[in-house]
Amino acid sequence: MEGKMKAIVKNNAGPGAELMDVDIPTPGPGQVLIKVKSTSICGSDLHIYKWNNWAEKNVKLPQIMGHEVAGKVIALGENVKSVKEGDFVSAETHIPCGHCYQCKTGNRHICENMKILGVHTDGVFAEYAILEEVDVWHNDPSIPAESASIQEPLGNAIDTIRAGDVTGKEILITGAGPVGLLAVGVARAFGATKIIVSEPNEYRRKIAKKMGADLTLDPINEDLLSLVIKNTDGRGVDFTAEMSGNKNAIQQGLKSVRPGGSMALLGLPDDPISIDLTQDLIFKAVNLIGITGREMFKTWYIAGRLLKENRLNLSPVITHTFPLADFEKGMKLMEEGNCGKIILKP
Ligand SMILES: [Zn+2]
Ligand SMILES: [Zn+2]
Repeated sequence: MEGKMKAIVKNNAGPGAELMDVDIPTPGPGQVLIKVKSTSICGSDLHIYKWNNWAEKNVKLPQIMGHEVAGKVIALGENVKSVKEGDFVSAETHIPCGHCYQCKTGNRHICENMKILGVHTDGVFAEYAILEEVDVWHNDPSIPAESASIQEPLGNAIDTIRAGDVTGKEILITGAGPVGLLAVGVARAFGATKIIVSEPNEYRRKIAKKMGADLTLDPINEDLLSLVIKNTDGRGVDFTAEMSGNKNAIQQGLKSVRPGGSMALLGLPDDPISIDLTQDLIFKAVNLIGITGREMFKTWYIAGRLLKENRLNLSPVITHTFPLADFEKGMKLMEEGNCGKIILKP
């Protein structure tokens, strides 16, 4: 397709990004072009916007930002077989190589040669975007575009909560940023019988309640461990989902797990941290599980079904909607933390 489109482009190494007119891209073999209906801001977008160490190492400039998306397919590249024009789609953001050991053994989400949409390729904060056919997810038409674009982080939450096999269990979620809040809703939908949420930000604690938390606590001003013990008949939780990457949350979250319980970690600490392996892990026979991204495409089937069948209400998490041009407002809100998920609409 000929013509120009608006896009949020990261041009320079350093903080910031620009809304610019750029060429509408042409889909190559195995790619499709979509007209973007809705996008949402991820924590990693904020890292790229602010240009932290991780962004500097991974992102080649200039590049269109963004990876969480829903839109309509308007053009197909050569050899595309499973997608047609007019399809309402979202995108998995892992772009796997397809031939490494992990890819060939059912673990494409931890591909050795992984590329990420909006990190290693041009992203979706634009009027149009290119998706790889392998990453296209067909949405049920009943799902609103705003919710559909959130399925990618919802997949992170699903993978994390799935690791805890939470049905009938008492669980702790440390960190109620957007993915932590989604995890609360997922844990509720999966049948966790008690959900304790630890989060310093009051605004986010309130959303956690709306998403189904039974108890929220402020780990800065309250004693997380003693509150967990008190609320689990003195045992500790069956499972901790660590969503913050905060050192204290990781250490306290692990201490909060009962003997024989488990803990999954999705949040990324900036630096190495120490944990008491002997007391908190080995003697308690605790199972510690790392989570990255989301399994392709198990989590998408679960996300799609939860949304289609109204088993998960995302509206408390979607706190703001801005036009693409106001992306800086969204980034500022993300940085301050008084928000859930922020939608950007072209
Ligand atoms: Zn994301
Ligand atoms: Zn691979």
